[in-house]
Amino acid sequence: MTTLGIDLGTTNSLIAVFSDDGPRVLTDTAGSRSVPSVVAIDDGGKLLVGAAARARAVYRPDDAVSRFKPYMGEEHGYRLGEHALGPVSLSALVLRELKARAEEALGETIDEAVITVPAWFREPNRRATIEAARLAGLRVRHLLNEPTAAALAYGVAQGDSEQAIAVLDLGGGTFDVTILELYDGMVDVRASGGDVHLGGEDYTDVLLRHVLSGTTTDALQTGAVRALVERAKRQLSHEQTVTVDLSTLGGPTVSVDRETYDRLCAPLNQRLRRCVQEALVQSGLRGPSIDHVLLVGGAVRMPAVAAIAESLFGQPAKLADDVDTLVARGAAVQAALLDKHAALRDVMVTDVLTHSLGVSVVQTWDGEHYEGRFMAVLSRGTTLPASRQERLATLHPEQTTLVLQVFEGEHRLVEKNERIGTLEIQGLPKHPVQSGKTEAVDVRFSQDVSGLLQIDATVLSTQQTKRLVLERSSRPLQEGERAQADRRLAAIAMHPREAQANRQLLEVATSVMMVVPQAERDTVDRYILAFESAMDKQVPNDIVEANALLTAVVRDLVNRHGLHDLVDVP
Ligand code: AMP
Repeated sequence: MTTLGIDLGTTNSLIAVFSDDGPRVLTDTAGSRSVPSVVAIDDGGKLLVGAAARARAVYRPDDAVSRFKPYMGEEHGYRLGEHALGPVSLSALVLRELKARAEEALGETIDEAVITVPAWFREPNRRATIEAARLAGLRVRHLLNEPTAAALAYGVAQGDSEQAIAVLDLGGGTFDVTILELYDGMVDVRASGGDVHLGGEDYTDVLLRHVLSGTTTDALQTGAVRALVERAKRQLSHEQTVTVDLSTLGGPTVSVDRETYDRLCAPLNQRLRRCVQEALVQSGLRGPSIDHVLLVGGAVRMPAVAAIAESLFGQPAKLADDVDTLVARGAAVQAALLDKHAALRDVMVTDVLTHSLGVSVVQTWDGEHYEGRFMAVLSRGTTLPASRQERLATLHPEQTTLVLQVFEGEHRLVEKNERIGTLEIQGLPKHPVQSGKTEAVDVRFSQDVSGLLQIDATVLSTQQTKRLVLERSSRPLQEGERAQADRRLAAIAMHPREAQANRQLLEVATSVMMVVPQAERDTVDRYILAFESAMDKQVPNDIVEANALLTAVVRDLVNRHGLHDLVDVP
């Protein structure tokens, strides 16, 4: 049975599998590789996922939800018609679409996956990702940090030469930096950092605000305007000046040069730079000793990113080959490692802890007790697998119970960190108050690469032990959970898969119509009407014919007006 590699991206998601020739990205029947991470609702109240949803977002932004990934694990509600959906359900819908695609492409049932997440994701974000997968009917075998995935795909392609690599991954919504070493088939992650709320879309926001700064009309807050600004942003990656022409949408025409754009984006670039510097410090390496700087993620095409990398590492950064699929391919490599694929026997991966793990303690200072202080047992940046022990003591001689609250985070006050578990030790030996005697307890934290955290507490005097195991990234799908998950998602009205393709064409045609000159709109409109009418009458041959005609018209417009970035033509 195949374990699927999934790059669950903020803007786009991809799937890949490993074969004897190496990792391979799966496409749909039309040859398209990525599935937009977008969910939308159509006029009939049914949900659309992927390209159809993205196309609808262009002209009905209120009917579509995207960029929900950075909010995984947070309270964040979205409304699509009568559906109230959170980031977990939305991701589950995308994952279910990916699973269906994989099953179609491979002709087998897929139950297990390696899913990539930003290295900076915390425990609740990770748990939410696993929950989303479970709802989609997938067991997560490993949550792999995105930059580690990129390095894994890169490293496997390089063979076994020894090198230090920095991976800068700027996607739509998140930024990850990882510094790692490759040697003898080992991928050794030295440092990992980033910012969960910094991505390419923030750059689009900056440009959008600039372009609309002279206008006051809310009518311009549409997906079509954003799509045109997004296109201009991409052009600025290789052109010195761009003109954003919003006249067909009732907006201004604004010209922006690279210098202005860079000035507007300076605060964002500053944040990028700081993240990279922090990771370098954490890695214990110096910039120039890094052999390769690998740029991953859609938004690293902005020259500013390469410039920041070059200034910090003292060498030109290189755009990874086929940069958009590197993370998915890395997930497939990890899946193959778990499946013990013969071609990969010798590769080993280590990772680093991205957040410190520890317990809540009481600190004593000048005779006063201060509760709720965080004591890290395993510190951020520790190479995994790792195991470390700290000795704690009870506070009072008569104390017979010790409650260990386990936290993740960096703050010295536990209330600012994330509580991830509790371990209670009862039956400690009681001592007379006058004796002033307390009990010592050794607390050992052991964490492996796949996210399994084991905490052992041993009472020194009695050698009594208590263990807590937190499966921080993976849990097998329990009996009955699958059926329950299926029922929950099945309750959401979706179009059948064939109908989704027709919906996609309709949504794409409608959004293209929004941005082409008036003279051409009428033509598209006629073909759309013909297509809708064929679908209403439900005569299969007529639908196929009208679909082909409309597809040809849309393709022609997309080619002539360079709208490839805007829509995915089915
Ligand atoms: P990803 O999630 O890795 O696919 O990254 C998507 C992000 O990359 C989006 O914010 C895009 O706007 C951005 N992006 C893609 N191509 C370019 C480009 N040529 N120049 C600037 N940003 C880009």
